[in-house]
Amino acid sequence: MVWFRREKKAIESPVPPDERRVRTEGMWSKCQDCGQILWKKDLEANWEVCPKCQHHFPLDSQRRLELLLDDARWTEHDTALSSTDPLVFTDTKPYKKRLADAQKKLGLADAIRTAEGSLHGRRVFCCAMEFGFIGGSMGAVVGEKVTRAAERAREQKTPLVIASCSGGARMMEGAVSLMQMGKICAALGRLDEARVPYISVLADPTTGGVTASYAMLGDLNIAEPGALIGFAGPRVIEQTIRQKLPEGFQRAEFLLEHGMLDAIVHRKELKAYIANALDFFLA
Ligand SMILES: [Zn+2]
Repeated sequence: MVWFRREKKAIESPVPPDERRVRTEGMWSKCQDCGQILWKKDLEANWEVCPKCQHHFPLDSQRRLELLLDDARWTEHDTALSSTDPLVFTDTKPYKKRLADAQKKLGLADAIRTAEGSLHGRRVFCCAMEFGFIGGSMGAVVGEKVTRAAERAREQKTPLVIASCSGGARMMEGAVSLMQMGKICAALGRLDEARVPYISVLADPTTGGVTASYAMLGDLNIAEPGALIGFAGPRVIEQTIRQKLPEGFQRAEFLLEHGMLDAIVHRKELKAYIANALDFFLA
């Protein structure tokens, strides 16, 4: 059974990256934390962080790689892998249609970019998940791309950095998406045996099967401030255990306090922090 296929040609973005963001409707945005009205250009120039209260807005995969890799240059791998819809799944609309819509909107074949570049002069393999693509969900393609990135990192003894933001496994691919967790974990296990560093960055939100697999398996697990990180959602947990959950439950700060994370790092300090950590690991 084939769960993904290689397109003859990579899916081209309908608009060049430079023009893509300019078309965004409206010029203003409101910070959901402090209520400040922000000019979108200012927000963009500030890496989507509110200048007043430092609330971290979502960052797409393109900008995440620009944030982490030198001179905004990188080589992307496996851009043509796309899902074959193995279950021929339909919910409110057919999965095939959902995929085609997301591919057209984002110019991406699936919910992750896997790249190779330099991070403050250190060669790295860097993956960035795309929340806009079906909630950043992990199906066969995301699983395969992350696995290949881990295998490349191992073969070339080059550190791996994965920035996650995901709603979890992709339900439209059922068990096929769930088995990616095991596949990726096995690849990361081999990476660990080869003593190649893997740094996981958890952005808002990182939940479900992604948290339950590679997002929490870094040699360092670093979150962005205020990120929602969890497995099941708070409402489901409350209904199951019939208890009210504590304030700030599943936020990065709560997880750090309870030993689930190694650090919370401001987006603008993330690159320097990772560079420092890699020097420590590779010394
Ligand atoms: Zn704010």
